[in-house]
Amino acid sequence: MQERRHWDTLASTLTRSIEGRVIQPADESFESSAALWSAHPTRRPALIAQVANAADVRRVLRSVPLEVPVSVRGRGHDWAGRAHAEGGVTLDLSRMRGVQIDADARTARVQGGARLDDLIDAAGEHGLVAAVGTVNEVGVTGLTLGGGYGPYLGTLGLAADAIVSAEVVLADGSITTASAEENADLLWALRGAGGNFGVVTSLDIALAELPGMLAGVIAFSTTELRQVLTALDRLLPTVPDRLAISPAIAGGPDGGPALLLAVHWSGDADEGAPWVREVERLGTPLMSTVGPATPAQALHALDGMFPAGRHYTLRTASLTRLTPAVAEVLADGERRRTSPLSAVNIHHFHGAATRVSADHSAWALREPHLMVEVIAATTDAEGHDEQIAWADHLLDALRPLALSAAYPNLLAPGDDERAAGVYGDNLTRLHAVKRDVDPAGRFSGIPIGIRGRL
Ligand SMILES: Cc1cc2nc3c(=O)[nH]c(=O)nc-3n(C[C@H](O)[C@H](O)[C@H](O)COP(=O)(O)OP(=O)(O)OC[C@H]3O[C@@H](n4cnc5c(N)ncnc54)[C@H](O)[C@@H]3O)c2cc1C
Repeated sequence: MQERRHWDTLASTLTRSIEGRVIQPADESFESSAALWSAHPTRRPALIAQVANAADVRRVLRSVPLEVPVSVRGRGHDWAGRAHAEGGVTLDLSRMRGVQIDADARTARVQGGARLDDLIDAAGEHGLVAAVGTVNEVGVTGLTLGGGYGPYLGTLGLAADAIVSAEVVLADGSITTASAEENADLLWALRGAGGNFGVVTSLDIALAELPGMLAGVIAFSTTELRQVLTALDRLLPTVPDRLAISPAIAGGPDGGPALLLAVHWSGDADEGAPWVREVERLGTPLMSTVGPATPAQALHALDGMFPAGRHYTLRTASLTRLTPAVAEVLADGERRRTSPLSAVNIHHFHGAATRVSADHSAWALREPHLMVEVIAATTDAEGHDEQIAWADHLLDALRPLALSAAYPNLLAPGDDERAAGVYGDNLTRLHAVKRDVDPAGRFSGIPIGIRGRL
């Protein structure tokens, strides 16, 4: 759809028919509405539909010609900018942030544009918690559909494992439910193959009780990086499900670089305290902030560390262990890092997340592993290419030590090969679901090895 007048006609049709808002490039609010977490990828949609409900989504999908690309925006935190399609229509769910808790059933009904803190705050009012990630502003649905690593991997599993049911608007505009009873194959696919099947307007998510929590950060000097990571490698296979340790190499307490171990103990504080001391003994701590916390407080620990609007590019690798060779590569990467804003983050996949059969969900990779995120960050475009080169260099060095699989939610569009490793033998069934619900290939989420018209 090249001509502007076609877009104007579409915009006025939608303005008349949806409860939400339609925003075009000439509108004053366009730039702020189009802005994403990372300023680096600059895909520009031709129209943004800020939908209010599933019926709005249906109207948009039925009004937009099939040849016009559509994309889905939750909270805009995908680093590759997949919330927009170049020259397409963005279905923006950011106004749909409602969360309803059913305390008796221990479930949350979460609208498709809710943030992690919307869910954690609402669940916390009932003494309950959900499997989420580490940064409060990230979208629950985007994180959950694509897997969902975080401090509750050991106790609650992947965020995707907690999906009980979903309301999905399919490519043809039909509004459907995916649950164990209805469209079970779609539910299976939604658990880990994010964004490829339709617009998820709400998710029912299982919640759990949390008997207590210790959370905080233990900082070590980067001069101890190799020693602490190697000691951590020995500790990790012995830690209980309730202990999550996430190493990061980033700005430390004095602003200079540091090795930061984010520690979460999900359980009784007295039982967790000896484990926290064990982590502190991995080296000579510069600082330790680990103490009693609520899940909501823990979720705000990284506030301000990765603010929206900077230029970000991510690379990722999954490893079986933090071997001395891996520690050496990370130490070398730290020596080469020239932007104080760039960082390395590591998640530990263990416990409950590994005790799920490989065919329970589209997500098949259930072996214990570590997921390394290399984050190239600069305040603006200047110097960003240099940081990307830094991240690429680090990734090239990690690759020979890494699994063939990597976290699809953080892979670049088109990196189907490494994503396939996560779906394993489930790929055939996954592609069958895609063919069934989206034969025209309207939705392209994280890479699953299949794109476009089928
Ligand atoms: C600062 C930061 C911290 C992060 N921390 C973690 C973490 O701890 N653990 C982790 O696992 N991941 C983490 N991520 C990755 C994050 O989970 C993914 O990038 C996720 O896709 C973001 O969702 P969003 O709604 O914010 O992003 P968006 O850019 O709005 O959405 C990304 C894509 O997800 C799909 N999607 C989103 N909402 C819907 C919907 N309602 N229906 C259908 N498809 C949808 C679409 O394909 C969409 O294009 C982090 C990312 C950032 C930037």
